[in-house]
Amino acid sequence: MSMNTQGRPTAPQAVAVGSPASGSALLPEEALLFEIGDRDHSGVDLPDVEVSDDRLGGLRRKTPLDLPGLTEPEAMRHYVRLSRRNYSIDSGMYPLGSCTMKHNPRLNEKMARLPGFADVHPLQPVSTVQGALGAIEELARWLMELTNTEAVAMSPKAGAHGELCGMMAIRAAHAANGQTHRNIVLVPESAHGTNPATAAFLGYEVRSIDANEHGTVDVEAVRAALSDDVAAIMLTNPNTCGLFESQVIEIAEAVHEAGAYFYCDGANFNAIMGVVRPGDLGIDAMHINLHKTFSTPHGGGGPGAGPVVLSQALAPFAPVPFVRKGGDHLELVEHAEGGSFGRLTAFHGQMGMYIRALTYMLSHGKDGLAQAARDAVLNANYIKARLEDLFSAPFNGQPVMHEALFDDAFLKGTGVTTLDFAKAMIDEGFHPMTMYFPLVVQGAMLIEPTESESLQTLDAFIATMRELAEDARAGNAGRFTSAPRRAPLARLDETRAARQPRLKWVRPEASREAAE
Ligand SMILES: *Cc1c(COP(=O)(O)O)cnc(C)c1O
Repeated sequence: MSMNTQGRPTAPQAVAVGSPASGSALLPEEALLFEIGDRDHSGVDLPDVEVSDDRLGGLRRKTPLDLPGLTEPEAMRHYVRLSRRNYSIDSGMYPLGSCTMKHNPRLNEKMARLPGFADVHPLQPVSTVQGALGAIEELARWLMELTNTEAVAMSPKAGAHGELCGMMAIRAAHAANGQTHRNIVLVPESAHGTNPATAAFLGYEVRSIDANEHGTVDVEAVRAALSDDVAAIMLTNPNTCGLFESQVIEIAEAVHEAGAYFYCDGANFNAIMGVVRPGDLGIDAMHINLHKTFSTPHGGGGPGAGPVVLSQALAPFAPVPFVRKGGDHLELVEHAEGGSFGRLTAFHGQMGMYIRALTYMLSHGKDGLAQAARDAVLNANYIKARLEDLFSAPFNGQPVMHEALFDDAFLKGTGVTTLDFAKAMIDEGFHPMTMYFPLVVQGAMLIEPTESESLQTLDAFIATMRELAEDARAGNAGRFTSAPRRAPLARLDETRAARQPRLKWVRPEASREAAE
């Protein structure tokens, strides 16, 4: 296609190798707004203004602003076309393990857009935002109830930020108890990378703990690693292999006996919400990824929320701000008092995310949340049961929690790698599962369907996975190594994209002039 839909010739495009769909038919390559637009025109009519005196003190810009001029339909089509190139949870199944890519109910969106929530400003007088504070307080109570904990820090912006918050509370607690020499944090080798990164960021030495042959952590391995210098353990439960840490209570007791704290990575809470209360397992701090468990949209660089629940031992060290009842009104405690480690972030967190999560909770009810957890576990086990005769599972024989984990042993000798297999899934219309994570499993394929998917969708996914596995083993490696063939772009140089990102658009004539 040599013309874009504006009837102007498109800028020269890099056409990906092995990708006949590039820039073809109804999926055109999309130029940048600056390439589509025209700096001499504007999409809006503004009346000419008489500027009698210049109040800018000589700071008026001397060069044109150079914004691209587009009409409303041009601008709208640009973004809609871009959105069609973007796979999303609203366009199909998203089996990324560890990510809990569940449906975001439209009711959540409607509630978050209510002006009383959407239009509040963090610097508004507290007396004018009592309803919004009430909603934060209500969400906080749900989180404490579901986890059986004493306090919750609402302001962290994501799971990783929540880890930082929880570990800062632990550090503050040790400092208050005269235990500043404790400089080691224990992290199982299957942990998400954010766990050791958080501990290292705070200056702790990270000690890895091996998993046993069942993919879980043995209390004996923890006991052997504990000492007077250990500040905390960071343990994920259910863990990143999709398995429930069956010795978690004994591990918590051993950690506490050694004077350390138990940080639980709660990113996989979706598998147990409403069924198990982590406080009953002996955790001291745990972040909750609202964008995973409670159906708020996943990032894309946008706002997130990773509240951290805290045990009685850590509650005094929670950061500010927090909401507190003061007679018949709610107040926002902004200044650190007692043992609080202070402020973690500007303002109070993401109102829109709070409302979406709270809406999800209220519309499900406590029994509905437990049902969602059970359905998520059932779906993962269904996939595992229907695939395990063709695929190879590293920790065979055990039922899983929310995700099914396979390794690449079944591809041995086929010339097909986990990456090739994932790329071939794209040609069949399925977003790949998480690959090569957790690191403890060779060529890992981690599949998390969540409770959102219907039996029909699961069956279609399973049929595709089985057909691909059989084809790989039948010796048709070429289909895999040349995939994806039906995607607009094929295999990208991801390393180069990360190391040398082109973040700035240079006007073609400017780059030509510079070259001359
Ligand atoms: C997603 C995830 C995290 C990090 O959460 P973010 O919100 O992405 O920062 C940490 N641990 C585990 C196990 C996760 O799955």
